[in-house]
Amino acid sequence: MTNKNLYTLFEEHFPADKSSTAFEGPDVQTYSFEQIGTQSAQMANLLVNTGAKPGDRVAVQVGKSVEAVILYLACLRAGLVYLPLNTAYKAAEIDYFVGDASPAIVVCDPSSLKEISEISKKAGVLEVLTLDLNGHGSLSEGTAACSVKFETVSCAADDLAAILYTSGTTGRSKGAMLTHDNLASNARSLHKAWHFDQQDVLLHALPIFHVHGLFVALHCALLTGIKTIFLTKFDASTVLDYLPKSTVFMGVPTFYVRLLSEPNLSSGSCRNMRLFTAGSAPLLEETFNAFSQRTGHTILERYGMTEAGMITTNPYDGERKAGTVGFPLDNDVRITDDTGKPVPEGEIGILEIKGPNVFKGYWQMPEKTAAEFRSDGYFITGDMTRKGDDGYYRIVGRSKDLIISGGYNVYPKEIESFIDEMPGIEESAIVGRPHADFGEAVIAFVVPTASTTNLQATDVIAFIKEKLANFKVPKQVYVVDALPRNAMGKVQKNALRDRALEDM
Ligand code: ATP
Ligand code: MG
Repeated sequence: MTNKNLYTLFEEHFPADKSSTAFEGPDVQTYSFEQIGTQSAQMANLLVNTGAKPGDRVAVQVGKSVEAVILYLACLRAGLVYLPLNTAYKAAEIDYFVGDASPAIVVCDPSSLKEISEISKKAGVLEVLTLDLNGHGSLSEGTAACSVKFETVSCAADDLAAILYTSGTTGRSKGAMLTHDNLASNARSLHKAWHFDQQDVLLHALPIFHVHGLFVALHCALLTGIKTIFLTKFDASTVLDYLPKSTVFMGVPTFYVRLLSEPNLSSGSCRNMRLFTAGSAPLLEETFNAFSQRTGHTILERYGMTEAGMITTNPYDGERKAGTVGFPLDNDVRITDDTGKPVPEGEIGILEIKGPNVFKGYWQMPEKTAAEFRSDGYFITGDMTRKGDDGYYRIVGRSKDLIISGGYNVYPKEIESFIDEMPGIEESAIVGRPHADFGEAVIAFVVPTASTTNLQATDVIAFIKEKLANFKVPKQVYVVDALPRNAMGKVQKNALRDRALEDM
C-alpha cells in the first residue's frame, strides 16, 4: 500500500533535467516535464476554484491531446476523480453518463459546449469547462491566470483516483472505481515486468479514455519519466514514420493487422524497438506469426480489464507464446466453476482474481458489485480461462458468450479459430440463439475476404461438419460485410445475438 497521491509517485520519477521532453508528436504541442508540472498545477488551481472538493467527479469528453493528459494529472493532484468518456459518445449517451456520475465539473471540446451545457444543467453540474488546445493546457480562459504552484493533496489508501467505464462489450458500460493505490500498484508491476528504463521512448497511439491507453501505456511512461511520442489517433503510416524513433509500442490486435498491410513495415523500420505489446482483445496467431516474420519481433500479448488494469502478461525474457496471455502479474488467481469452486488443473473455468490492483466496486451499483465478488474477496472476471501444462494462461472467451447446446459447453472461440482458417474467410463470430430442443443453437457470422465473391453458408457448414462435433456445427450461418466492433476493436456480440434473434 502506497498511501500516496499517484501524481506524487509519477513526479518522483520525472527526470532530473525537467526541461527534457515529456510529450511530442506530429499534431501536438511539445511539452517538457517542467511544463507538465506547472500546467497541471495551474489546472488543479482552476478546478479547485470552481468549488469542487476532493472526491468530486470531473467528467471529461475531449479529443486525445496532451492537454487532456495534463487535465488527468490536475485531477489527481486535486484529489478529484477523473472520469473520462468515450469520444464517440453522442448526446443521449453523455446524458446517461453525466446523470449516472453526477460530476461537479464537466470538461468538453469547444465544439460540443452548447449540447453538454444543456445536459449538465439538468444534472446539477457546478461548472462546464472547455479544453482549448492552444499549447497552454488552457481550460476555458482561466488557467493562465492561475498560480503555477499547487500542493498535491495527500490521499488515503482507498481514495478514488478515477472512475473508468468498461467498454460495454457485454452490456451497458459500468463505472469501475479505481483508487490511487490500485493504479499505483499496477503501474509499478507493469514498469517492472516490461523493463522500462530512462532510454525508452513510448509510441502512444491508443485512445486515452480507456484502460489500455490511459493506465497501461501512459502510466508506464509517467512512472519512468521518459518521452512519449503522442499520436492523437492511430494511423498505420504515421506509426511507421515514428517507429524508428521509438523503443516501445502498445496496441490492440487491429493495429497490428493494419501495420501488416503497410508494405514498408520491416525489421529496418523497427530497428530501435525493443517491445511490441498487444491486448484488449485476442491476438490471432496468424497476426503474431506474420508480424514476427516481417519484423523479427514477437508481439508480447497480455490480458487485462478496466476493473484491474493488467492481470497477466507473456514473459519479457522467456518465450512469448501465441494464443496465450502468459502468467499472472501481481494477482492471486484461481480458475473456478460458476459456484467459485476451483476446477481440476488444466480444465476451462472462470478466472477469479485478488490483488492490490483490483477495483473498489462499480459506481452506484452495490448489488452488481456484491454479485461479482466472492466472500473471500476474489473478483469474478467473467473470462473463461485455461491454464496449460506449460503454465501459460489462455483466455478462451467470456462466460456470457458460453453456449450450452444439447447439454454440451460450446466455446465460441474454438469454432471461430477453426472457421477463420477456411480459405476465403477473413473473420467470424459465433453466438448462441435459444433453441426449442437444444436449449441454445450455435449461430455463425462470417466475413469473406475482399477477393472472395459468392461465399455460401452451406460451404461454411460443410467445412465445419467435416472436422468438428455435431453440436458445434452452426445451425445458421450469416455472411456479412463486417462484424460490429466498439472503439477498442472488440466484437459486439450483443448486436449479433439481437440480429440472430430477429430471424427466430
Ligand atoms: P464490458 O465489461 O462493459 O462488457 P469489456 O469487458 O470489453 O466491456 P474492458 O474492461 O475494456 O471492457 O475489457 C476487458 C475484457 O477484454 C476482458 O475481460 C477480456 O474479456 C478482454 N480481453 C482483454 N485482453 C484480452 C486478451 N489478450 N485476450 C482475450 N481477451 C482479452
Ligand atoms: Mg468487462
